This record gives sequence, structure tokens and C-alpha cells, in this order.
Amino acid sequence: MRYRISIFFAELSLKGANKKLFIKRLRQNLKRKLKAKHYDWPLKQVYDRIFIEPIDVAEDEVKVLIQELCLLPGISRISLGYWFDINEDFFAKKPDLDVVVEQLLKLARDSYRQDASFAVRVKRGEKRFPLTSSDTEKYIATEILKRTDWQKVNLKNPDQIFYLDISSTGLVAYSNNYTASGGLPVSTTGRVMVLMSGGFDSPTAAWLMANRGCNIDCIHFSASHIGPQQLKDYKVARIVQIISRYSGRVRLIVVPYTHFDMALMAQNIGYDVMLFRRFMARVAEQYTQDINTQALVTGDNLGQVASQTLENITALDQAVEVPILRPLLTYNKQEIIELNRQLGLYDACREPYKDCCALISSHPKTKTRDYILSRIEEQQIPDYQDLIKQSLDDRLEIVYEFGHVLKMAVTQETEKTCQSL
Ligand code: ATP
Ligand code: MG
Repeated sequence: MRYRISIFFAELSLKGANKKLFIKRLRQNLKRKLKAKHYDWPLKQVYDRIFIEPIDVAEDEVKVLIQELCLLPGISRISLGYWFDINEDFFAKKPDLDVVVEQLLKLARDSYRQDASFAVRVKRGEKRFPLTSSDTEKYIATEILKRTDWQKVNLKNPDQIFYLDISSTGLVAYSNNYTASGGLPVSTTGRVMVLMSGGFDSPTAAWLMANRGCNIDCIHFSASHIGPQQLKDYKVARIVQIISRYSGRVRLIVVPYTHFDMALMAQNIGYDVMLFRRFMARVAEQYTQDINTQALVTGDNLGQVASQTLENITALDQAVEVPILRPLLTYNKQEIIELNRQLGLYDACREPYKDCCALISSHPKTKTRDYILSRIEEQQIPDYQDLIKQSLDDRLEIVYEFGHVLKMAVTQETEKTCQSL
């Protein structure tokens, strides 16, 4: 059996002059996605959709691919079509639609829902086909009514549509529209750096930004130095690798916060969490200065924990010049978990991991102020710039591309530190 995957663009009707660019990006992203999965299949574009014609694969494998494509930003829906080759003889005599009707009946049986209505839509791209579109539609609909449980036809507003496309080279039967996540293709709206912890929120926030067209990079602060050998299997690295299946190329930077721990001279009961969060934002801001990043992103969720009150959100914003975006600010926890699950992140995210913020203060202050935090920072960390530099010098970097490791980099300082461990 041959298949045809039809991919429909999301939101592109809104994009006016940029439409071409957006489509080009989506095509590029799809090509790289297929390449990462070792599929060497051509993409074809016809009007409002892109076709992929998988070669030499089983239906189950095609379905797995479609499930993944549903989370690739910029796609509104996908349908899986069954392709039937035809030749010149087909048009010469009364066309035999038996096999293709059988396939449509199978689709109808598989998608049957009680009380739902259906319609059949035929696209006759090849005019030598002797029946009109509407006669063909009537013929197929009658077969569906006779031979399946479907009972209601509704031409204007059906719950389910069964399609048949007729071209000079083949017939394609399809119905099942997979709903995709919509959004905009990655690489159309800018670059952001996600502060990535080991929990459920920040990975979900990262995907949401990718789904609005951003290229994402991630920075994680680890409680201790981790060696390059440990990096690939590190929890956060595996989480980022999963996100990259949909967001394409993602760089992960892992920075130990041991220098920060050592730099704080006194106990700062209640303030440590915010001091730490400001430190993370500053390191991220410094790192991103050379890579054209327009914003930082966190998994903050209003009121979820002490550091996420409006006051503390403000005190964090005031630590850096770059904007901090918080796509999950108004989500409910259940919605976050649900999305996290759909993204295939749940199992990795729920693995136990030392949550760094929780490590520090058991009763963090809910209403800190920039001037108070700044005063503590000035007194206890006189050379803040140096602290940022030392921390960044000890970083590890890994780059993923659609779920694969593309490159790993270790700074000289990391190398030295790891050798002396
Ligand atoms: P999450 O569920 O995203 O792990 P959380 O519920 O643990 O977050 P906090 O610990 O308050 O909440 O962290 C708030 C945000 O700060 C996180 O969503 C993330 O963006 C950032 N953050 C926290 N810890 C780290 C870390 N170790 N490295 C990088 N970013 C972090
Ligand atoms: Mg959180």
C-alpha cells in the first residue's frame, strides 16, 4: 500500500506578505525532521498543503510519524491518504472504483460515532473521469450508508468527511484528520533562551515558545559539576532532547551553580531563592549576548510557589535588561501536566531530581524588592561579573537536532574542573 500524508498550514491566512517565508520555513523544518528520522522522501506542495509520500514503510510507522508531526509547530491538521495507482485504461472504460470504495468503507467503519453525520467530498483533478464529482459522491455515500453503521448525511456541516481525490496518476482516499498543534513554524519569530529546570513547567513552556515560531535554546543550572560523559544521560538533557523532536535545533548549556553557592557569604534566610533566580537570569542574559537572543523564558506560573508572586516576578525582571517571557503564567497545573504528557515528556519530567530552588530556602519570602536584593548582592558578591564569568567558564554544551545529538562542546575550564574531580 502507498500512502500520502497531507499537511495543512496553520494560521497562514493571517500572514499576508510573510506567507511565503512561513511556508518555506515549514518545508525546511519538515525536511530536516524527515532527515533526522532517516526518511528520504520528497515533499510536494499544492496550494494550501504539503504532501509527503512515504516509501517502503508500514502503516503503523506512518502513523507514528504523523503523531510526531502533529506537534511540529505551524501545522493545523494532517490527514493520511491511501493511494491507488491507475493507468490509461482506467479512463478508457467504465472506471472500477471497487478497491478505493473498500478503503473508504474501512475508514468509515474505523471512525464511526453514533449519531454523528458524514459527507463525501470528491476532487476530480482529472476530467477524463466519466462521472461528475457529485455523482461519485452520491455513489460512495450510498455505499457507506448501506454497508456501515453511519446513518446521517449532512452536506453543509458534517462531523466527519470522507475524501477521494482523482488525478491522472492515482486515486487517494482519506478521512481521518489528525488535529495538530497549530502555531507558527520554528524560525519565524525570533530566538529565546529557556531557563530549564528538572520539573514539568519549564519544558512545557519551552515547547509553547517553539510553537509560536521561536528558535529555542536552554540553560540549566546544576547543583554540582557534571562530566561530559554524564551529560547525555542527564535528566535535563534527555528532556531537552525530547523537546528538540519538535523544535528542531536546540542548544543546551549546563552551568554548575557551585560558584554562586560559594560566593554568598552569609545566610540570607528567605531571600536565597530570589538571589538564586536573579543569578540564573543574569548568567543566561550574559551568555545570550553573543547569540542574538531576544528574550529569556521561564516556566513561572502565577502564585504556584513563593518565587512566583507578582512581587517576585517583578524583582526577577528588574535583575536583567532582557525581557523575561512566561508562557505558563496563567495555566492551571492540570493543563500544564496534560500538555507535558502530550509532548511525551511526562515520564522524563517526573523522574526524581534534586530541585535546586527547593534546596535553598524552606520559607522563601513572597514579597521581595529589587532594592533589598540589590543591597544583599552588592554586599555579599562584590564582583558579580566575575561570578558570572567563572560559572559560564565551567559550562557544558550539547546541541540537538530533531531528537538527535548534533554536537557536544566542553570549555577548557570545564575540562580542567572535570579532570580534577
Ligand atoms: P519547573 O516545574 O519548571 O521545574 P518549578 O515548579 O520547580 O519549575 P521554580 O523552582 O520556582 O518552579 O522555578 C521557576 C522557574 O525558574 C522554572 O520554571 C525555570 O524556568 C527556572 N528554574 C528553576 N530552577 C532552575 C534551574 N536549576 N536551572 C534553570 N532554570 C531553573
Ligand atoms: Mg513551576
